[in-house]
Amino acid sequence: MPLDFLKRKNTDGTPAPGDAGPPPAAGAHGTITLPEEVVAQEYQLKLYYAGKSSEGVRMTAGPKAVAELPSMLHGLAKSEIEVVDPLPIEFSQATPVMARPSEAMQWLNAHHIHSPVTRHALVVLESIDAIDLAFDTFVCTLLDGEVDTSGYPEYSAIVGGVVSHWDEATGDMIARAVVGWGGKGARGDTDRIAAKLLSGILTNILANQYALGLTPIDRPVPAAGRGGLVCAHCGFASAHERAFYCPKCGMRLLRG
Ligand SMILES: [Zn+2]
Repeated sequence: MPLDFLKRKNTDGTPAPGDAGPPPAAGAHGTITLPEEVVAQEYQLKLYYAGKSSEGVRMTAGPKAVAELPSMLHGLAKSEIEVVDPLPIEFSQATPVMARPSEAMQWLNAHHIHSPVTRHALVVLESIDAIDLAFDTFVCTLLDGEVDTSGYPEYSAIVGGVVSHWDEATGDMIARAVVGWGGKGARGDTDRIAAKLLSGILTNILANQYALGLTPIDRPVPAAGRGGLVCAHCGFASAHERAFYCPKCGMRLLRG
């Protein structure tokens, strides 16, 4: 018996690929009527991220002040204290958004070395624009709440720490307290606990020997396109083209 279904389509007068095929056959039992109302199964995910940032504290001591930052979390840290440096130019597009593979790959390449607590904090605080690693240094820890069995903070856990950048007008380091939390849910008392922790971190910053007092924060504007200068002191290639001071080591960038 010949196997008709194996025949090539063009040999027996049927339409070539690309030609309009025959109209769809009616159902074997006649026309299918559409229901008046479509029964839909609903799906939803509500993600909630929040955070707080304090006023800035002006610090003297120049580049030495960076080494002081982790000590400002003593007494408050509930996990290892990690320092996240500003990102160099090759990571200038890094964004924790899975649907953008190039940006997500940059982000993972930059941050896979960090702990689950720090990665969670970066996702939360970068998503709500509370920190910008084009010029911020982020000293991070778990401040309140629990982590799951893989070490990732629960939605009600509070993460954060001290964030610093170099003031473009004076070259002083400006440090501030930053906290964040969130995920698949929210809890009523988290905001109040976070406010208390923010105040505790700010108190520690102000108590540092190099602190000069509160100052308004005038955050630098990151570059839109190509990068800026390479630091002659530490070799850091900044993504911040108008930077006057190296985002990483705080030394003055040489131009020309
Ligand atoms: Zn530098």
